[in-house]
Amino acid sequence: MVYRSISSDPEFPMSIDLQARYRDERLPRYTSYPTAPHFSPAVSDRQYGAWLGSLESGATGSLYLHVPFCRSMCWYCGCHTTITKHDAPIADYLAVLQREIEAVAERLERRLPVRHIHFGGGTPTIMNPDELARLVDLLSARFAIAPEAEIAVEIDPRTLAPAMIAALGRSGVTRASLGVQSFDRVVQRAINRVQTVAQTAAAVDGLRAAGVRGINFDLIYGLPHQTIASCRATVAACLDMRPDRFAVFGYAHVPGFKKHQRMIDEATLPDGVARHAQAEAIADALQAAGYRRIGLDHYAMPSDPMVSAHLDRRLQRNFQGYTTDTSDALLGFGASAIGCLPQGYVQNAVGLGDYAARVGAGTLPTIKGYVLTADDRLRADLIERMMCDFAVDVAAVARRHNADPAAVFRALPRLAALQADGLVDRSGHEVRVADGARHLVRTVASAFDAYLEVPGRTFSRAV
Ligand code: SF4
Repeated sequence: MVYRSISSDPEFPMSIDLQARYRDERLPRYTSYPTAPHFSPAVSDRQYGAWLGSLESGATGSLYLHVPFCRSMCWYCGCHTTITKHDAPIADYLAVLQREIEAVAERLERRLPVRHIHFGGGTPTIMNPDELARLVDLLSARFAIAPEAEIAVEIDPRTLAPAMIAALGRSGVTRASLGVQSFDRVVQRAINRVQTVAQTAAAVDGLRAAGVRGINFDLIYGLPHQTIASCRATVAACLDMRPDRFAVFGYAHVPGFKKHQRMIDEATLPDGVARHAQAEAIADALQAAGYRRIGLDHYAMPSDPMVSAHLDRRLQRNFQGYTTDTSDALLGFGASAIGCLPQGYVQNAVGLGDYAARVGAGTLPTIKGYVLTADDRLRADLIERMMCDFAVDVAAVARRHNADPAAVFRALPRLAALQADGLVDRSGHEVRVADGARHLVRTVASAFDAYLEVPGRTFSRAV
């Protein structure tokens, strides 16, 4: 049998065929467990209301606000967004969003203490500065926002106006996540997102001058025409701006699900081997520049709180990816937004009309959700630790959930095959990702997933 390593570890002993099979497997990103395809209409707006009302007195919360509008469509986009050249639909949507915030707050027993707020999209900065200020004022009135709270906003540097930069600073925004993806002009044209280094640098400089301390960059590998050289060049240009964190994602090509992705010529997409090489080239360049690798796809400077959370095994995973947020409840606002409460998950109506109609009728816009079982909670804990730490003490997690460790191991039939194929090392009760196989951590985490074989689920490649 021929062995060849495509991982960062030349000793990774896996056949080419086996590596290809695991690399091309379609798997969840495990930002939740169970994943969204398992949500069902059995969880209603009334149930969500009851869950809100039963939050314990000491509970803390974090807030996610979805702004589903952009000025133009990037062909790689996997988000829920709508393209508009007009401001009126955005103003109308924000009025509904404010009404939803009021409706949720009314169902809480008290002003929920909040330490994390995230504005996502779409392009949240498509709001005008006054709209942003009104939204933040409403949140401050309805929730007990901690003075040191993290307020994060996703930013499109191509459309970020100076007035909005100033408004972000005045609103107390602490972290900006800037979409960069690739600075290669050939790649940019192929994804319909032309964004210069100068535009990006101006946004970073402006945000820092306005008092936004944390700067995150999002990069993507596996885009059309992308090469190792272009990935390295993009990283080099980014490093001049010294962002605090990077998130590096693989492009998920699912044109059957996201129709605009059909604008991307599949013949120009890198194959699995090339995707992995690009991811590793970016990882090497960032680590050489002093960034610490965190989990599957994050990189941060050593002084970053995400690094200490990672070292102390306190890192968490939620719908935005890796986070230091340890709140008891994540409340999602806006069309398609997902929330997570101690009892389970809820998701809002996805369509803008449906979302507005439900809020307008005086109900919460919940259309589906999931009630967690004891087994789900245990498996969610195992998966989260594996995704964050690349290792998990199964017995320790089982004990936290009052389960028998031997019975838990018996309920993990995929684990033995992954161990035999060299992806997993096992020492007593500890299961860890084998050296050189960290790019396959989603595969290893899937060993704890009881729903993996459910038909009809579409996920992205493992690498
Ligand atoms: S700016 Fe972001 S959300 Fe909007 S189309 Fe591009 S990738 Fe999608």
